[in-house]
Amino acid sequence: MEHPNSPTDGATLTSITPMAIPGHIDPMPVPRPGIVDGVTPREDGKVDVLGLPKARIAALLADAGLDAKAAKLRAKQVYHWLYHRGVTEFEAMTDIAKTMRPWLAERFVIGRPEIVEAQHSSDGTRKWLLRTTDGHDFEMVFIPDADRGTLCVSSQVGCTLNCRFCHTGTMRLVRNLTVGEIVGQVMLARDALGEWPKGAGDIRPATIVFENDDDDDDEGSYTSDGRLLTNIVMMGMGEPLYNFENVRDALKLVMDGDGLALSKRRITLSTSGVIPQMERCGQEIGVNLAVSLHAVTKDVRDEIVPVNKKYGIEDLLQACADYPGASNARRITFEYVMLKDKNDSDDDARELVRLLKKYKLPAKVNLIPFNPWPGAPYECSTPDRIRAFSNLVFDGGISAPVRTPRGRDIDAACGQLKTSAEKKSRAEIDRLLAEKEAALG
Ligand code: SAH
Ligand code: SF4
Repeated sequence: MEHPNSPTDGATLTSITPMAIPGHIDPMPVPRPGIVDGVTPREDGKVDVLGLPKARIAALLADAGLDAKAAKLRAKQVYHWLYHRGVTEFEAMTDIAKTMRPWLAERFVIGRPEIVEAQHSSDGTRKWLLRTTDGHDFEMVFIPDADRGTLCVSSQVGCTLNCRFCHTGTMRLVRNLTVGEIVGQVMLARDALGEWPKGAGDIRPATIVFENDDDDDDEGSYTSDGRLLTNIVMMGMGEPLYNFENVRDALKLVMDGDGLALSKRRITLSTSGVIPQMERCGQEIGVNLAVSLHAVTKDVRDEIVPVNKKYGIEDLLQACADYPGASNARRITFEYVMLKDKNDSDDDARELVRLLKKYKLPAKVNLIPFNPWPGAPYECSTPDRIRAFSNLVFDGGISAPVRTPRGRDIDAACGQLKTSAEKKSRAEIDRLLAEKEAALG
């Protein structure tokens, strides 16, 4: 029996309708694939269950002919194999009856984003160029450290927000990634790192001793199995709070104890400051928050983070103070990209301290050396200036480490997440920025 959500007509794959992304800063028409109830149609008519919650898988199985009880049981089994064991073939699901497995395989698939290119940096950083089934490219980065391994996950293809120092913001094409495409990045990373348990009781022995280096690490049980992928940051392409529902549902799958089981304390969502969605982020997802502040005056922030024209600094800091779950034990990270002669003066550093104190924020500041790209309108501050800035913030009682750039030889650092296929000339970038700024009013 054909499920109603599995169109046999391949034409839906290419149908394109404009999509409104929340917020006014959406000057570009946005193509949207014919996604029905979160399921991206496939040419073979099968339904990809990656990204679907357990209850939805059960409903699909019931639609395909199973009685409610059997559907619920099978959904539970499929879910376990899918997210806990990383299996992509129904044939491998050994606790499901042998005759049932081909029945499932005829109707469903367990997908992964397509890998277009995989790069390995000399410092161990890895970058993957991935492609959606409707042909959009996006990227994912894995950054191994001595005590953790962080996967940097994308939430959108491109970004509507056009921060002037960010390469992703110059991409013309934008579309939200689906739940499956977001959680699929974590699944792919686990595949690539070989980190799925092989069988019952095959939990790896602890091979790495993790130190509690900061407050994010107070739930260390996940790492005791010696896995490399320990942390997730929503800091790849896109603004995660402009794709709130899909990011939320994907992170719920990542955090589910029956599946990938990553602690919410090891997940950080970074936003440029989409205030209306911040409270929901704390309430409905409950992960750590990072805020891309980057400037302390209206003029400068308006220029480099244009969404500031809509959601200003003081309102943003108030929203941070109200963020559910923020405390001295779970501080909010403020990201601050160091731009030469733009936002890096002693006065800027003192004003940063004053603002964070005014709102009594449990804060830490991450100073990010600007990562230049061809035609970028800024330069990185000098190492001395960054150090002086860091010291001033530190003297104000707030920790302000300088982030070491990683994976530069493969363009894997922040803001470099842009495919070469999308690269544009300087003139084209200027025109795009002007066009998008005009749309801001
Ligand atoms: N859209 C979200 C998350 C993705 S950007 C946000 O803006 O927070 C992730 C981080 O990379 C942000 O702090 C962003 O400001 C920073 N970034 C972007 N381009 C950069 C560049 N060229 N050099 C250094 N950091 C950059
Ligand atoms: Fe978008 Fe973040 Fe880049 Fe700004 S810094 S353009 S919000 S991805």
